[in-house]
Amino acid sequence: MANDANCIFCRIVSGEIPSRRIHEDDDLIVFHDIHPAAPVHLLIVPKLHVESLITAQPEHQALLGKMLLLAPRLAREQGATDGFRIVINNGRDGGQEVYHLHVHVMGGPRPWKRT
Ligand code: AMP
Ligand code: ZN
Repeated sequence: MANDANCIFCRIVSGEIPSRRIHEDDDLIVFHDIHPAAPVHLLIVPKLHVESLITAQPEHQALLGKMLLLAPRLAREQGATDGFRIVINNGRDGGQEVYHLHVHVMGGPRPWKRT
């Protein structure tokens, strides 16, 4: 499904729900997590509605690579100048809350709220 009206991240992609957006290109948007777990906490979100890595397909290979390759520059630009952590939660036991694939990018000076 390209876009799901009931999905909060699809509604952020469309602009229906506001976000603190720091990047947009043809395939992705990036915005600040509303409940940051670290001084820098970004979410890299594909415009395409893909639920998680559990449902991702070979056709999403380039998209997945693009998400990871974007992280270092945006992390640095947002102040994570000494490294960052990438987290992708998948499914119930993976702690996923929003079922629209996203990459968490967390960084900035420690200690963080939770790790
Ligand atoms: P998860 O699905 O567990 O990987 O995480 C979903 C993340 O989305 C959480 O860290 C939430 O704080 C974040 N989140 C939920 N709603 C919003 C929103 N409207 N704007 C920004 N971040 C959000
Ligand atoms: Zn969605």
